[in-house]
Amino acid sequence: MFQALIHLLLNIAAAGTGEGGKHTPCEPPDCPDAYKDVIRDSVDFPDASMDIYITNLSYDNIMIKPTFHDSITFKKVKKIKDMTWSPADVNTKFMKLEGRTANNLLVTFTRTADPVKPPFPSPTYDFIIGDPGASHDSGVLYKIPFAKGKKFKVTQGFNGSFSHRTKTNKHAIDIEMPIGTTICACRAGTVVDVVEKFPDTSTTEAETNYIRILHSDGTYGIYAHLTQNGSDVAIGDDVSEGGILGRSGNSGKTNGPHLHFAVAKSDGSKYLATIPWKFKDSSGAEISWTFGQDLEHN
Ligand SMILES: [Zn+2]
Repeated sequence: MFQALIHLLLNIAAAGTGEGGKHTPCEPPDCPDAYKDVIRDSVDFPDASMDIYITNLSYDNIMIKPTFHDSITFKKVKKIKDMTWSPADVNTKFMKLEGRTANNLLVTFTRTADPVKPPFPSPTYDFIIGDPGASHDSGVLYKIPFAKGKKFKVTQGFNGSFSHRTKTNKHAIDIEMPIGTTICACRAGTVVDVVEKFPDTSTTEAETNYIRILHSDGTYGIYAHLTQNGSDVAIGDDVSEGGILGRSGNSGKTNGPHLHFAVAKSDGSKYLATIPWKFKDSSGAEISWTFGQDLEHN
C-alpha cells in the first residue's frame, strides 16, 4: 500500500525555464519542441494506482499526446475540461490542453503486473501547437496593422513567388516599411509567443523576430520580421484591435525591411497552416489590396 503523500514533480524539459510561459524559440512561426518547457507533470500515488496531472504553463492551446513506455493498465482517465479521452486513447490520441490551466489532464493507471512502485514510468510527450478543431470566424475582418494616415507598398501577397509558397505562409501579406514603423494588432487576442532577440541583419528563417497572438476563435495572427527588441508586448498580454504591438524590422529571411502578417491555425500537423483572411478600412468595410501597390490606412 502506498501513501498518497508521495509526490513527484517531473520536469519534462532537460533545461526547463520554470513559470512564466517563456520558451526557447526555434523555427518560427512555431516550434512544438519548444513547448516542452511549458508543460509540467506531477504524479501522486494513491494506494496502488498512480495519478498523473499535466499542466500547461503557457497561454497557448496545445495538443499533447503522452506515451507511456511501460506495461500498464489505465483504470480511468478523468476530469477534464473539454476532454474526450478514454483509456483506450492513451498512447494514441492527442488531447487539447488549454493555456494556463492547472491539472488539465488526469490519468489514473495501474501496472498490469504489480502495484505502482518506484521506479515510476515516465511518459514522453508529443506536441502540436494550436487546436485543430478551431474554426476561423468568417465574419471577422482584420484591421490594417499600421497607423491611420500611413500607406506602404504591398511587396508580396497570397501565394507570392518569393516565399509565400507553402502552407506556413501562403496566405500572408508582406508590406514594405522602414525599420521602426509602429505595428498594431489586426485583431484582439492574447499574446502567446514573442521572439525579439535577432538583429535586423539576420538572414535565416530561424532568426525571425515575431509576435503570435491567439484569437478568440483559436486562430492566430502572426506579425513577423520585427526589429530587435521590437516588441512592446509580453507573453500573456491581452491586446485589443489596433493596440500597439511593437516595431517593424528586417530580421529573418527577407529582401528588405517589411512586415509579414498572416492568419494561421493548426491543421493537426507540426506547423501552423495559414488561412485566407481580409482587411477592413476604418469604417469596417472590406478592402482589397494588390501586389505592387500601396496599402493605405484611411
Ligand atoms: Zn512574407
